[in-house]
Amino acid sequence: MGRGFDLEARLQSREERGLRRELAPVDRIGPTARRVPDPGADVPAFDANAEGLLVFATNDYLGLAGDDRLAEAAARIAHEFSTGAGASRLVVGDTFVHRDLEHALAKSKETKRALVFSSGYAANIGTITALAPDVVFSDELNHASIIDGCRLSDAEIKVYDHCSATDLRAAMDRRACESDEEESWLVVTDSVFSMDGDIAPLSTICSAAEHYGAWMMVDEAHATGVYDGGVVGQLGLEDRVHIQLGTLSKALGSQGGFVAGNETLIEYIANTARSFVFSTGLAPPAAGAAQEALRIAQMTDRPRTLQDRADHLRSGLKDLGFEVLGETHILPVLIGDRENAVALDEALRDRGVLAPAIRPPTVPEGMSRLRVAPTATHTSEQLDRCLDAFEAAGEEVGLR
Ligand code: PMP
Repeated sequence: MGRGFDLEARLQSREERGLRRELAPVDRIGPTARRVPDPGADVPAFDANAEGLLVFATNDYLGLAGDDRLAEAAARIAHEFSTGAGASRLVVGDTFVHRDLEHALAKSKETKRALVFSSGYAANIGTITALAPDVVFSDELNHASIIDGCRLSDAEIKVYDHCSATDLRAAMDRRACESDEEESWLVVTDSVFSMDGDIAPLSTICSAAEHYGAWMMVDEAHATGVYDGGVVGQLGLEDRVHIQLGTLSKALGSQGGFVAGNETLIEYIANTARSFVFSTGLAPPAAGAAQEALRIAQMTDRPRTLQDRADHLRSGLKDLGFEVLGETHILPVLIGDRENAVALDEALRDRGVLAPAIRPPTVPEGMSRLRVAPTATHTSEQLDRCLDAFEAAGEEVGLR
């Protein structure tokens, strides 16, 4: 046995607990895609579906990841600058492509500055660990990259009930009684929650934070590009939120993450966030593509189209008798029982629709759901095909 690692046994255990996942390539990123056989495998990873699946499973909400304008921007920058940054931004990996994008992001967030990271994950862990708060108050459904940032930062973590400014305030009151006034406090929340499709009550959360002079950090990963200026911008909270964070990898169809805030914050993060300092700068073509996406999101009606698509699908699903959670472009269809959710997922795939089941441990027991994420590039006809598939699959599985 020795002192090594029995990875086969660990994988087997995950398999038995239903936690083993498979990498499965698709032939394109867009409203439709085909599972393709993995060239390295003896057998196809999935049955190739000749028609292609209708995909309601990406975070490419504006349908820009396959857009020619982004591809052209990326290609131009790859030719003019390089495909990779070649070094950390602080060494020689800093280019005007990064600066232009950061300028555009800061403008859209109405902040003085912004800083791009190689992913949203890196932005979250880098920012929270660099701040090194004494205490973090964190929504119970915050994304894993926030949770990991909090853990790595060594802060004392106080988890408050999902979207509850009341529970947050109660947690702050309790902490205030048992600690001194010198402690640094950070309140952190997603704006749009990816698995519930709901929006944090940012104004009341800001008020709770302000009562104690705590700093506010909002992760706008699922709102960036979807709402102009994010939810923070829509609510006019720019002056009350100290740290706005986002990703370039979802609605902006590229890769990377960013943090936006005042001059001192960004200067400090650029000097101390380890995932920024000790990591190669964002690839310039990714930065160029994201900037083009930001321009399209701001100058065209794509975000409006996305909302129309989501409204259409939401009311169609409700008419079929399904319970749809949240209020955004992400439509979680609540099923409850995990076996039923998996059965519906499979029955939908048989009908050419990919809307993945989300089960425990990602969501609580009894709250399994299908996460249906339309994009601005799904046609009305494709949405109707999706609804037809839900109707037939729901009947087959006995959920209607
Ligand atoms: N924050 C949230 C709320 C997310 O959902 C994600 C990605 N799922 C991230 C951060 C990480 O972003 P990225 O994919 O760019 O690493």
